[in-house]
Amino acid sequence: MTDKPRSPDIMPLRVYDTRSREKRELSTLEDGRVSMYVCGITPYSPSHLGHARCYLAFDVVHRWLEASGYDVDYVQNFTDIDDKILDISDSEGVDYSVVANRNIDDYLEAMDTMNVLRADHYPRVTETIPEIIDMISTLEGKGHAYVGDDGVYFEIDTAPGKFGQLTGQTLEMVRAGAGGRVADTGSGKRDHRDFALWKLAKPGEPSWESPWGDGRPGWHIECSAMSLNHFGEQFDIHGGGHDLRFPHHEAEIFQSECCTESEPVVGYWMHNGFVNVDGEKMSKSLGNFWTIRDAFEHHEPLALRYALLSVPYRNPIDLTPEFLEDAATHFNRLVGAYGDSLSSDSESETDLSGASERFAAAMDDDFNTRAAMIEIQAVVSSANGSDVAVWLERHAGDVLGLLPPSEDVMAGLAQADSARAEVAEGSTRCWPSARARGIPRTGPAPTRSATRLLRWESSSRTGQTARPGAWTDYSSSETSTEGWLLMRLRMLELITPIEPTTTTREKKIAAQ
Ligand SMILES: [Zn+2]
Repeated sequence: MTDKPRSPDIMPLRVYDTRSREKRELSTLEDGRVSMYVCGITPYSPSHLGHARCYLAFDVVHRWLEASGYDVDYVQNFTDIDDKILDISDSEGVDYSVVANRNIDDYLEAMDTMNVLRADHYPRVTETIPEIIDMISTLEGKGHAYVGDDGVYFEIDTAPGKFGQLTGQTLEMVRAGAGGRVADTGSGKRDHRDFALWKLAKPGEPSWESPWGDGRPGWHIECSAMSLNHFGEQFDIHGGGHDLRFPHHEAEIFQSECCTESEPVVGYWMHNGFVNVDGEKMSKSLGNFWTIRDAFEHHEPLALRYALLSVPYRNPIDLTPEFLEDAATHFNRLVGAYGDSLSSDSESETDLSGASERFAAAMDDDFNTRAAMIEIQAVVSSANGSDVAVWLERHAGDVLGLLPPSEDVMAGLAQADSARAEVAEGSTRCWPSARARGIPRTGPAPTRSATRLLRWESSSRTGQTARPGAWTDYSSSETSTEGWLLMRLRMLELITPIEPTTTTREKKIAAQ
């Protein structure tokens, strides 16, 4: 790792670009700076694990670019007006902004809890309306847009060469798929592939004045306008989930490149893979849909972060109970090793430079977090000393965001030591909660702290009687300290880990 902008003699950082379908050496518009736009949430409901994966992936991109010496200007938008937001605000009888703000707060809180660094700017659609209208006017003036009965549309046939840039679809494939019904669009469109830039308001909908009548923007033009409003005519990285490639991002290519007449507007298109749960695509109808808050009820936020980063960002990820348990084990080992190293007075006798080089090579290879985490696991299992604490802080902490604050870890260690001392005193008090669940007692019974933790662990694992504020209470530092203490007690083998209990959600899936 370096504190200065990269020089040509350092191995190049290579980034997979969806448009060119290859990993390319990162070359930025401005030396030492990266401009990055990632499509943000549409805040109509609480954020889910698909969101967590996306924003964790780009958090690591952000962190590694900064660690490599780049100054990153990171923009992430909020699509704060949308049909789904309006449906919910109608059903609740509140203004759309109430629904949007509530879910934006939920998102930011969840991201903070998972150690996601904030972006530099969070533009909102409702604060960018004049710029969106300007962009549509420019497209109309250049002959790329037309006015239909119900709004303004982008005319695909005015830029046929830009079709299928991210997905490889051709106009012919789409025509064949449409069965020749291209004229039968059911709206004010001339062609079914054209897409809305401005939608005229239906009665009672919130709307803004425009040259074409009161209405609101189409989804795709919003991101084109918000990104170019901030960066000008070109920027380096545009990110988002795999499912946004078409139509959202291909529409952005049409709009942004036809408006600016520069190609490419975006240097690198980056897309993260899907999240599956138990082999199925996560969906509300399958009952395997996890909001981030749901997940926090059963998994420690940073252990979840560990799990979500342990697969390279472009690959799909399958969250099975075994996979999550395995990630939690590795995470606990990492935090335990970090705590031991923090309390160590001497340096290890291990040369960590090779591990640093392999870690950097992995991250330079399109942000391969899996390979980078294997290096961390190797260091954790082979070395202990004050230099290891520094190494882990840089690599596992600064770059991957996997470590809790050192104060929390030290507080957990101190609590564990006092619990251990209690046990060493040889208390003969009984251990009713454990005995009731048939857990064999070996050795002296842990008292106060350990028993309390056992009860906490049991309730937070079953999910049925989780005590208020288990992992769901983002703001409580006490819960995180308890987590480290629990981890520590397990390591000291003072308590017996409880087998994971089937959750209500798992039962629901099993019953289907
Ligand atoms: Zn977008």
